[in-house]
Amino acid sequence: MQVIRAARLFDGDKTVLAGEPAVIVEDGRVVSVRHDGAVPSGAELVDLGDATLLPGLIDAHVHLAFDAGADPVGALAARDDAQALEGMRAAARTALAAGITTVRDLGDRGYLGLLLRAEFARDPAAGPHLLTAGPPITTTRGHCWYLGGEADGVEGVRAAVRARAERGVDVIKIMASGGELTPGTHSHIPQYGIDELRAAVDEARRLDLPVSAHAHAGQAIADAVEAGVDSVEHCSFFTEDGVGAMPEVIERLVRTGVVVSATLGAVPGGTIPPRIVARMAALTDLFARLRQAGATIVFGTDAGIGPPKPHDVLPHAIGMAVRMFGWPPLEALRAVTSLPARLCRLDRRKGRLAPGMDADILAVAGDPLADPAALFDVRAVFRLGHRIR
Ligand SMILES: [Zn+2]
Repeated sequence: MQVIRAARLFDGDKTVLAGEPAVIVEDGRVVSVRHDGAVPSGAELVDLGDATLLPGLIDAHVHLAFDAGADPVGALAARDDAQALEGMRAAARTALAAGITTVRDLGDRGYLGLLLRAEFARDPAAGPHLLTAGPPITTTRGHCWYLGGEADGVEGVRAAVRARAERGVDVIKIMASGGELTPGTHSHIPQYGIDELRAAVDEARRLDLPVSAHAHAGQAIADAVEAGVDSVEHCSFFTEDGVGAMPEVIERLVRTGVVVSATLGAVPGGTIPPRIVARMAALTDLFARLRQAGATIVFGTDAGIGPPKPHDVLPHAIGMAVRMFGWPPLEALRAVTSLPARLCRLDRRKGRLAPGMDADILAVAGDPLADPAALFDVRAVFRLGHRIR
């Protein structure tokens, strides 16, 4: 039995404890959370001093196969599967070292994420808990077609969902609109219609899999929400030259409980594409509006897609939410702990520090609820009770 003690604790939901709280861990699970820091006899004490304990962070949207270089698509194309897998392994370790103990990979090549998921299941200290979508489902020559997930029409999409389920993916990722990484596609234009999206959701429901739709275009968001996806990735309401929120779509999204996966997080000084920079103010307004309307918002970074987004970029998302969007730090931290755990169907295991949960724990110096920059001063990371730093 281990007792992990610090000056403060955030439970991932709504509770903050001070006065030397402690997490009691046994066999990789949280047995209890104590308020007073008392150590049961015979337990091994890990006293982290002036630090804050949090649940390990969850990045709801990453691409381990992309190397966060200037040309991630070209770099991946130049790698064979063994090299790509080695890159993904390194990316996953980078995330884990920053305290990101769960990552949801929303697009790989050749189902390599499944191999990595199995590796980390055998040796949890080697990487984060990994959820994987396999190659995202996209139209012929559509967004991210080069990852190998082209499928057209209602029957093509249904077959693609079934093929992924047979492989054992954790989530279905479908590209409802074009994207920024794929020349010849356009973010503001839908790729699939409502019929294909409905087919994807229907088939996934039958196979008990959640569906994440990549959607920038307003019409693609509208169709994805109408089809009943679990989350809309990006949800940026891009028009050809700006951002055009659609109030009736936002209202329906909130009413039906579709989660918004906001693409946040960039290292300072990185080059952000001019198209995105030009829309920053409008996106800030959009996310304020979504929040005000009561949308459930989680943060996914799209880690890997460029130099501003290395695989440990998630803590920057929290700082951005606090500084740019004016979110209270506690709310921003929920968007990378308990809320994505629910989206990922892991809420009985991840995202909170409570009895019965996995002992995936991050300890940072100082108090991230007062200053999110504390998240960069990592004191310890535990993965299923194994201390990895
Ligand atoms: Zn992505």
